[in-house]
Amino acid sequence: MSATLPDQLGDKVVYHLRAGDQEIPLNSRIGMPLSLEWSGAIACTHCGRATKKSFAQGHCYPCFKRLAQCDTCIMKPETCHFFLGTCREPEWGETHCFQPHIVYLANSSGLKVGITRKTQMPTRWLDQGAIQALPILEVNTRQQSGFVEMLFKEQVSDRTNWRAMLKGEVEPLDLNAERNRLLDVLSDGLDKLRDLHGQDAIRTLDEAPHAFDYPVETFPRKVVSHNFDKQPRVEGVLQGIKGQYLILDTGVINLRKFTGYEISLT
Ligand SMILES: [Zn+2]
Repeated sequence: MSATLPDQLGDKVVYHLRAGDQEIPLNSRIGMPLSLEWSGAIACTHCGRATKKSFAQGHCYPCFKRLAQCDTCIMKPETCHFFLGTCREPEWGETHCFQPHIVYLANSSGLKVGITRKTQMPTRWLDQGAIQALPILEVNTRQQSGFVEMLFKEQVSDRTNWRAMLKGEVEPLDLNAERNRLLDVLSDGLDKLRDLHGQDAIRTLDEAPHAFDYPVETFPRKVVSHNFDKQPRVEGVLQGIKGQYLILDTGVINLRKFTGYEISLT
């Protein structure tokens, strides 16, 4: 499922379901019955091979063990081991990890800190169901963004409470004020990182906060999840879409979790 910003400021986030080379618009289906059925097949999103189980959101086991993007250092960038000569795919690392990264504050289920490659904004925020986001620092590499995030985690969570996010129980925050407060509280730590990585390595950004509005008609009062592995057919009236979740009147489903699953939609 892809999420994109609306053409008009103030409109809702636009969702499509990718099926082969087709893009099925989803926003227009809200309020209508929807049925999703998994055939039982899973194709690796990297090599296309059939796999019985999906690893790291849509990979076969050989790809999961071989690809740099499936290595643990992607989730924990501060553990980057490129410099030891042990990167699984040094060329991939150079084009993906040795690129400018952004440290941002977002409001998905309250204040959180996160990192993303510069080119992944705003996709990353929409995937998390954030209603607000503010880029605060720019760094030169993914590893540096990990060091900065570790520092911020002393003060702010890096997690989303997805149940609260889906219930829509999220109050708007003054992200500019949070940014100023955190940059102030963490200024010694940031200075230390600059001493280690270079004074220009961590740059303070002065951007305006972004706000996102999701196409949700009715937020669930209680969040129950569907799971294709347990129940291959999922049906219900589509009540909204937020983050990577379809919200049906029968429960929610995280489509990201089932990347690579062969699903028919009616
Ligand atoms: Zn594969």
